[in-house]
Parts: sequence; C-alpha cells; structure tokens
Amino acid sequence: MKTQTRVVVIGGGIAGCSTLYHLTREGWDDVMLLERDELTSGTTWHSAAQVTNFGLTQTMVGLKSHSIALYKDLAEDPEYPINYHHGDGGLRLANTEAQLEGYRHFASMARGMGVEFEVIDAAECARRHPLISTENLLGGLWDPLDGDIDPAQLCQALARRARAAGAEVHRNTPVTGLTQHADHSWTVHTSKGDIRAEIVVNAAGYRVNEVGVMMGVHHPVASMEHQYFLTEPIPAIREADRRMPLIRCPISDFYCRQEKDGLLVGFYEQDCRTWGMDGIDPNFVNALCPDDLDRVTDVLEGAFARMPALMEVGIRTVINGPITYTIDGAPLVGPIPGKRNAYCIIGLRAGLGEGGGHGWLLAQQIVHGEACYDTWVIDPRRFTGHGNVELTALKAIEDYQNEFRFHFPHEHRAAGRPIKTTPLTPILAAEGAHFDVVNGWERIAYIKPAPDFEEAHTFRFNETFNIVAGEVTSVQTAAGLTEVNGFNRLELSGRDVHSFLDRMICGRMPQRPGQVGLAYLLNHQGMLKSEATIANLPDGRVWYGSAAASECHDFDWLTQHLRPGEDVQIRSLTNDLTILVLAGPRARAVLSAASRGDWSAEAFPWLSVREAFIGIAPATVMSVSFSGELAYEIHVPNNQLYAAYLALREAGKAHDLRLFGSRAVDSMRIEKGYLHWKADILTEFDPFETGLDRFVQLAKADFVGREGLRARAEQGPARRLVTLEIDCTHAPSHSGASVSHGSSVIGTVTSADWGHRVGKNLAFAFVDAAHSELGSVLAVDVLGLPVAATVVPRCSYDPEATRVRAR
Ligand SMILES: Cc1cc2nc3c(=O)[nH]c(=O)nc-3n(C[C@H](O)[C@H](O)[C@H](O)COP(=O)(O)OP(=O)(O)OC[C@H]3O[C@@H](n4cnc5c(N)ncnc54)[C@H](O)[C@@H]3O)c2cc1C
Repeated sequence: MKTQTRVVVIGGGIAGCSTLYHLTREGWDDVMLLERDELTSGTTWHSAAQVTNFGLTQTMVGLKSHSIALYKDLAEDPEYPINYHHGDGGLRLANTEAQLEGYRHFASMARGMGVEFEVIDAAECARRHPLISTENLLGGLWDPLDGDIDPAQLCQALARRARAAGAEVHRNTPVTGLTQHADHSWTVHTSKGDIRAEIVVNAAGYRVNEVGVMMGVHHPVASMEHQYFLTEPIPAIREADRRMPLIRCPISDFYCRQEKDGLLVGFYEQDCRTWGMDGIDPNFVNALCPDDLDRVTDVLEGAFARMPALMEVGIRTVINGPITYTIDGAPLVGPIPGKRNAYCIIGLRAGLGEGGGHGWLLAQQIVHGEACYDTWVIDPRRFTGHGNVELTALKAIEDYQNEFRFHFPHEHRAAGRPIKTTPLTPILAAEGAHFDVVNGWERIAYIKPAPDFEEAHTFRFNETFNIVAGEVTSVQTAAGLTEVNGFNRLELSGRDVHSFLDRMICGRMPQRPGQVGLAYLLNHQGMLKSEATIANLPDGRVWYGSAAASECHDFDWLTQHLRPGEDVQIRSLTNDLTILVLAGPRARAVLSAASRGDWSAEAFPWLSVREAFIGIAPATVMSVSFSGELAYEIHVPNNQLYAAYLALREAGKAHDLRLFGSRAVDSMRIEKGYLHWKADILTEFDPFETGLDRFVQLAKADFVGREGLRARAEQGPARRLVTLEIDCTHAPSHSGASVSHGSSVIGTVTSADWGHRVGKNLAFAFVDAAHSELGSVLAVDVLGLPVAATVVPRCSYDPEATRVRAR
C-alpha cells in the first residue's frame, strides 16, 4: 500500500468507486480507495439498483444521463461485461391533473438536456405495462431509458477500470482517523498504517458521520430503513415478449421492476423509521435489518390494487436495508463546508442510478475546481448550520414518506418547521403572514386575507395572484414593510480589506466611506461564482451581503483566497442581524418620522449607507432597492428588531404603510431585471452572457477569474440571458422550462413570474446568442406546452431608475 497519494477516497460503494474511476478519467491516476470491508458491503450490495433518467433539475437529469451512458459502455465492455437492463422504460404514475402538469414541466426541462420523456394517458400506461390496472389513474410520465443494473458488477467494473488507469483499491482497510496539517493535506490513519494525502473524500454511505467525526464535522445525513420484496415467478411475465417497464407510484408510494420472471416491489410507507441514530454496530457488514412487512400494509394494498398479479404470487425474499437521506432529498456532493481539501459524496438515496453522474461531477470539481454543470442543487454548502441530527431525521422521514411526490412551486413541507426564526416571526404570524422557507428561515411570503386561507399547490397562477398584486400596488403607490431574515452578512475589517475585495470581484469597489455597490465574484474559469452587495461603513469596516443560502459557500471562497500576511478579518453577522425593507414612494417620509437626521436625497442619496437609530433601536441603513421603488434596507440587531419594527409601524400609520412579502418582491424584481443567485446567476455562464457587462472591469490589474474571462470574451458568448414576455395569462413559466425556436430547443428558463406593475407574464432565460436580439419571437413551455414569447428589454419597469432616486 502506498503511503503517499493525491486523493484518498473513503468507501467502496457506488459513490466511492464512481469517484475513483472518474478521477482517473480526469487525468489523476495517483489516487486510492480504502474500503473497511469488501467493495459494496454497505448499502450498495442489496440495492434494487433501478437506473432512471427523471430529475427535478437539469443538473440531476444531466448527471443521470451520464450514468446511463457510462453503464451502457461498461455493459458492452467485452473484457468485463456486466448485467444492465437498459431501456426497459419506466412509468411515473399520476391520478391528478396537477401531477400531470408537473410531469409536463419536468419533461420540458429534460428536453433541454437532450432527454425525451412522454406524458401519456392511462390507457397508454396500461398498454406499455400490461400488469397495471387503470383504476384511479389519469396517466403518467414515460421515461424510455429506465432499467436496472447489477450493483456489485457495476462497482467492480468501475474499480477495475480505475486500477487499470493506475489507481489503488484496498479492501479490508478501515480508515480509523484523519489528521489535517497546516498545509491542508491529511494523514489518513488506517488499520494498515498511515497514508499522506492531499485530498480526502468521504464516500462512507450510512457511516458518513463516523468519518465526519474524524474530521470534526457533522453531515446532515440520516438513514432510513427501506424494504422491498421479490416475488415468485409470474406467468404473464414469463410469457411476455419483452421485459416489464419500471413503475414509480406517488399514489400508493411503491416502485416495481422486473426481477427474473417475477417482480421486485419496494415501498415508502408512512410508518417509516430512521436507522442508526444512536450509533451503528461495527459488525453491520453485508447486513440487513429485520423484515417488517406489517409496517408497509398501508402501501401494500395500493400496490396490490394497481398490480393485481401480485395477489396471486408468493413472496420469495424480503430485503430491508439502510438508505441515506438529507434535509432536502438531494445528496451532498462537493466541498465540505468549513474544510479545505475535503470533499464528500454522501446522502445518496438513489445512488445506483445517480452514482455514475455524481462521481463524474465530483471528480471534475476536485480536479478543475468546478464541474460542467452548476452543482448547487447537490452542493454540501447549501445548508448553513441548521442541519442538525434531529432536523435531518425529521426531514428524512418526511422526504421518505413523499418519495415520488415532487414539490410544487412554493410548496414548503411542514416537518422541521420552524427551525430559523427572528423575534418578528410570531409578530408577523399574528399579522396573518404566510411563510416560505429560505435556507431554513421562515420568511414572509404574503399576508393571508383570512386566517384559514390556504393556497392550492399548482404550476398555474393560484389564489395568491390578487394578494400579491395588492401588496405590489401598496409598495408602488404608498409604502411597504417586509422582513428579509437570514441574508448573508459578512463583516470584513483590517488594513487590506479593500485590496483583498478588489481582487475578489470583477468590477469596481465602492470607493467612498458611506458608499454601497453591487459586485460579482468569478471562479478561476471566469464564470459567475457569487453576487455581493458591498457597503463601505463610515469607520472603515466593509459589509459583504449576499443571498441567505450563500453563507458557507461565500465564506469559504473568501477565506480560501486570503494571502499569507494579508490583514483581513472576516466574521459572519448573518445570525445577529435582520433586514427590514422599507419601500415605496412614501418610504422616505416613514423613515424620517422614525429616525432622527436628514434622509433627503441630497443628504442620503441612492447607494448610500449610514448608521442611525430607528426609534430606540440602533440600525445600519442602506438606500438600495430590489423592488425598483425608493427603498431602504434597515439592518437591525435581532434583539432590537421588534423595537425597530414598532417604530416603523407607528411612523407608517400616517403613510398607509402595509406589510408585503417575498412573492411581491419576486414579481417586482423580475420587472426590474434583477437576478437571483443560483436561479439566474450560475457557474455555467460568465458575466457577459448574463448581461452584467457593466459590473466587469477587464482592464483591472488583477482579479480572480480575469484570465479565464478574457479568453471567453474573445470567443464571444454562446448563450445570453434575456427577458421574455410570454403570451398567456393562466400560468407562469418555471425554472428549467425549455425555450424553442421552430423545432429546436435553444434555451432554458431560469426564473419567471407575473410582473404586476407592467401587467406582463415575464421570464428570464438563457438562449442561444443568435436568438437573443430584442424582438426575437420564440416559444416558451408553460405547463409543458409551447407559448409564444418575445425577447424584451431586461428592465420592463422604470428603466431610467427615476423612482429609486426620487427626491
Ligand atoms: C432496499 C434499498 C433499495 C434501493 N434501491 C435503489 C434503486 O433501485 N436505485 C437506486 O439508484 N438506488 C437504490 N437504493 C439506494 C442505493 O443503493 C444507495 O444510494 C447506494 O448504494 C449508496 O451507495 P454509497 O456508496 O453511498 O454507500 P455504501 O454502499 O453504503 O458504501 C459505503 C462504503 O463505505 C465503507 N466505509 C464506511 N466507513 C468506512 C471507513 N471508516 N473506512 C473505509 N470504508 C468505510 C462501507 O463499508 C461501504 O462499503 C436502494 C437502497 C436500499 C436500501
């Protein structure tokens, strides 16, 4: 065994084997995999091993397509062929129109990744799967490439190819400890001696947190018991001239595939349970949990009704094994927050289908710093400290119970709420606030018209349309107040703050004390990494503000770029302060009534920051706006937030001040052409493609990403972000929807909403540069069906920005 290597991958399931193989594919052959027992002796060996193409985001569809292509290639390798039933096809069933509309949207999204799904009616479902009943069935989504694979052969094939490329694989070699050194490299302690490695990867499956402890981190991953059974042979299958397709059923929470001449049927029961919460027996190897089919009787009945043939055959075997879940159902693949040279590929609940793709994207990140897709949906840094053991367990249970039920737009499920609140949360709730969840924070979405008001979950415009319109009108005509909690706020101080930040952003730093500016950070390839509001406080401190979910991501990116000896201190104020946003033409009058001082446009112009009191509460006030109206962001310490709120409400009485929420903000920001990080601002595009040219100073002496961006600028943009006006009123488009020209898909929607002030159905989309000219007529998928859409100017409302500068 080598004692020095570039990367040690810990764990020999599909996650570890795929990572190792892809590292060699990316050109790194000095890499090792250490497995405590035999390869695949964790969850992988007993997996139902279905491989599907369906995903809720383009990144998931893309990585699954990679798995499918890779597995096909491995299966056809004459030297080591493996069993892969490729292309049996699969059905996701639906018994409501709303589910079918969702499927149509996801089919549109997949089309943009070159993947063709079909949405079909119940009779066609039954034609494609002769064993199902059409009782209580409306239709389904057909995924032509679904199939299943032999998990042990798959891992062996990956390990075999990795070894052939120079990698080492060591079985029966448990990692027992990890020590990190000052240069960020690691000593990996094993039962067979120590290994020095530049980088470590946690791929330890359900033992993820045993390895987490070794590096002093807790990963928000919990295991659930999960059962399937195998039936005796079924005559109709034996006699069929083709293999049965897969089934995934959100109506009765089961899945099913053919296994030999019988069926494999798995369940997601409501009476589910976590596993290993109080530690895992070290001898749980190649092992299963005790069968407990009594627990699944609720879903068993539905499965039997859908597939009557099941009632006529015996059960051959029951498998019950641990399966890992995270807080939001997607795995954690990428850099470990707060650590250097440490990555993970964990929380895989569909690891056989997805593992090929996850290992591919992780290896790219390790070798190149970034993957070919924006990987935020699987980024381990997307949870910021609230992913504790208990919350993770609650969300894992909820997610398991809803395995095949996708989230509708604005659907935020109940488990583990509230986890992050401010002193205002109960006050706003008493005022009738409905909350959406943003990175764990309960954030006001709108004020309900009645305490028992509930909105329908749908891809169409729903009952909130007029509520949001009313809130927008009050912000446009008088004054509105809202709370933006959890906004990431880093405070930078020290002699070198300005030169450091100047190097980190691609544009110009705000120069004067008291000045605020918007800035963009690039990765080393010149692609968009982060967006920040930079505020020069009068005493030399600088505030760096960014989206709530960016807290760990941006903190790590900044701290990793500090040079030795640079005098910069960075501390997070995110959990200490909350923003009250005061917006509308009467906002200045409200502020002047609540706070001493001259708030005139001359004394406190657009893009200024100053410290003040709001009533008796100390606050840092910025004149910035995400709504396009005259507005102030008022940053208040949480322990005095209520005092500031009371002062503003009192001052607002004379100015018709009303509460508004994030849904109104979303409508207004899209009219203004303002972007959301990780919706519209993605690492797949550079600032020129994103239309942020005015925030780039290519002539600057140095900044992170400069060389990459220069090279890209010479090539010219492949795609451009445009604003589209969609010619319909019944539904918005949604993130991921395809944009087409003729019969070709030429773009993808990043975010969309109704613009209430301009009365237009708007969307942002990246489209091929050739179709990005103003006035181009394209088609956008709405509920999966093409609707005419025209490229319009980025800003539809007050393009001269007269309202934010109003006197
Ligand atoms: C019943 C069931 C059915 C499933 N069906 C499907 C399906 O149809 N399709 C699908 O895509 N997915 C399915 N899954 C999920 C899928 O099997 C898992 O997502 C996948 O196997 C996880 O792989 P892994 O590599 O992350 O973890 P594991 O397979 O658990 O591998 C982790 C490895 O790390 C090793 N390890 C742990 N600690 C250490 C250490 N300290 N040192 C060295 N090695 C260590 C372990 O021994 C283990 O071999 C199913 C899961 C279950 C339980």
